[in-house]
Amino acid sequence: MNSNRLFLVLAIGIAIGLWAYGRYVAIPKPPHRRPAGATSPNNRRVEKSDDDWKINLTRAQYNVLRGSDTEWPGSSPLVHEHRPGTFVCAGCRNPLFSSATKFESNTGWPSFYAPIVTNAIYTEADGSRTEVRCAVCDGHLGHVFTDGPAPTGLRYCMNGVAMAFETK
Ligand SMILES: [Zn+2]
Repeated sequence: MNSNRLFLVLAIGIAIGLWAYGRYVAIPKPPHRRPAGATSPNNRRVEKSDDDWKINLTRAQYNVLRGSDTEWPGSSPLVHEHRPGTFVCAGCRNPLFSSATKFESNTGWPSFYAPIVTNAIYTEADGSRTEVRCAVCDGHLGHVFTDGPAPTGLRYCMNGVAMAFETK
């Protein structure tokens, strides 16, 4: 093996090592601070340590709700959930969206034109996009866009893994 190839193998090995370190070695995340003035239904709040969230959520739920990840489009069974009911936060069971406002966006993510009540969620700037978080546990849910249908013209583009469905 010449020295160039040895260097390449070493560099790849170090990169994989750093990736694994970042992924599996716990670096506790500081709690997300909700914007001043944000409220939640009945002023309910759920606050847990990063370690407790890791215990209480699946890895996929944790990566989205606490790590602001985005699930693979089309991966959630909730994309095609059309029964009457309520979509609640998978982290704290806060009711987020009614099936009455769900529409087929063909994006691969469950989409709604309005939250179930105004203060069920709050939004924050996220680069050029607008992030949507649960008002009770501050969990990351997805983003909201302005290309939705009437009556609001909004498209709440949610991660299905961040929610659970409760039938009526
Ligand atoms: Zn929540």
